[in-house]
Amino acid sequence: MTPTKHSDLDLRGEVLVAGDSGFDALAAIWDGRHGCRPAVIARCLGAADVRKALRHARRLGLEVSVRCGGHNPNDYAINDGGMVLDLRGMNSVHIDPVARRARVAGGALAGDVVREAAEFGLVPVTGILPAIGFCGLALNGGEGFFTYRHGMVCDNITGATLVTADGELVRCSENERPQLLWGLRGAGSNFGVVTEIEIALHELPTSVLAGMITWMPVRERLAEFLATLLTALQATSDDLYPVMIIGRDETGEVSVSAVLCHVGAAEDADREIGSIRALAPAVDDTIARNGYHQAVKVLHERIDELAGFEDGLCRRWTDYELACTPERFGEVVAANADRLLTDTECHGTVSIIVEGKPIDNVLGTPAKHRDGPGVMIEAGWRGIDRAARFDALIDELNATLASDGVISSVSGNIHSISDVSQAIVVENYGPDVYRKLARLKSIYDPENIFHLNYNIVPGPAMRNNGMNGEWV
Ligand SMILES: Cc1cc2nc3c(=O)[nH]c(=O)nc-3n(C[C@H](O)[C@H](O)[C@H](O)COP(=O)(O)OP(=O)(O)OC[C@H]3O[C@@H](n4cnc5c(N)ncnc54)[C@H](O)[C@@H]3O)c2cc1C
Repeated sequence: MTPTKHSDLDLRGEVLVAGDSGFDALAAIWDGRHGCRPAVIARCLGAADVRKALRHARRLGLEVSVRCGGHNPNDYAINDGGMVLDLRGMNSVHIDPVARRARVAGGALAGDVVREAAEFGLVPVTGILPAIGFCGLALNGGEGFFTYRHGMVCDNITGATLVTADGELVRCSENERPQLLWGLRGAGSNFGVVTEIEIALHELPTSVLAGMITWMPVRERLAEFLATLLTALQATSDDLYPVMIIGRDETGEVSVSAVLCHVGAAEDADREIGSIRALAPAVDDTIARNGYHQAVKVLHERIDELAGFEDGLCRRWTDYELACTPERFGEVVAANADRLLTDTECHGTVSIIVEGKPIDNVLGTPAKHRDGPGVMIEAGWRGIDRAARFDALIDELNATLASDGVISSVSGNIHSISDVSQAIVVENYGPDVYRKLARLKSIYDPENIFHLNYNIVPGPAMRNNGMNGEWV
């Protein structure tokens, strides 16, 4: 039963407090490592619910989390003892096939947008996993298979409606509050609760050539193979988004996989992926021509298996920029391959993922991590009591990669890092962009109510309320 403290919270959606039936399931997020337990979850069904719940939380002095897909590795979607504005009930997607635009409600998932757009022969730029929140992805940057053709997910935001910290409903577009639109394209969870986002859509290819190729190189040739594969992936065209995953199977053998999705012309796809296939005989090759939706579904199931992405495992992710040649990368990773892990007993994995190539920033948005590639270490395991062991494994591996010059001290993709500090946030945006964002924050959230995010601390105010784009 909801106690009287929250009984005046008259929402269309449900309000649950700890102890209510279904509360724990609603509070669960993708990462099983967190120990947070919010006091109240407001299942908002529209902007009015968001306003009421936000005002209520502020009246009671409760900390506020905004939850979309719940997949951020920093557990921003929940908090300890505060209120969660759970947007999952706000999941409508409206397609305008003529304008090639979509209006996406604040809690819709990436898969909702892909499916709805596909019916009209269109596709959004989005991440690989359908269960990621679309706003959680877009507002913080976001990249996926169409990124090298059409930019990051945030580059495709054309407008938004949000409830700001004081409960005001504001809109932004290229013509209305353009500076707010600029801020939303990469630092967007800082300025309010986005109840609807408007995005550009693109033509959906009738089919794509996609899948995963896995090799098990013999140890003596591992260094050379890693170098050759990394060189090949870095040289791919804008139609191909390459990811390399290095792990070990249960027998201790090292496996190297390439996740590939070519969204361009069939003959180009055959040639590019063909040359990667030809590098060495593979032990598994699921490359096939498929409809985009089916291709992504198959790929994500395979990635789930390989990188242990399933819900509820404990997590630790780190990501640093690659700082060496492919040859040096191959040499050092091959020498340290025994530190990677697949432990079936605790469902533990420690793998190295090399992601991305440089991404253009044509619009000059705040979203960084376009410099790629990044070297990510991904660990997932069952049982919170094993956290110290996995933390130590990852820290040691990173220390070795850093001392051998493989990674720099600069953080890579901020989406791929657990425990993001304020220093990493500033480094991610760069000091100049951060300062501008801090001024914008001071207009829409001067008390930093929305701080469970890649947080911008409010700075000196900006003239003209960001309405006409003038900065001071
Ligand atoms: C298994 C896995 C695979 C991934 N794959 C990719 C990938 O392919 N490409 C990629 O770019 N990233 C990827 N990511 C990273 C992911 O995109 C980010 O972690 C993203 O922030 C998750 O969004 P979410 O809505 O699911 O999470 P949440 O934790 O619900 O939200 C993330 C942040 O955004 C804020 N937020 C969400 N919705 C709103 C809103 N409507 N208004 C205001 N603030 C909001 C939240 O408050 C929180 O701070 C992956 C993550 C995981 C765990």
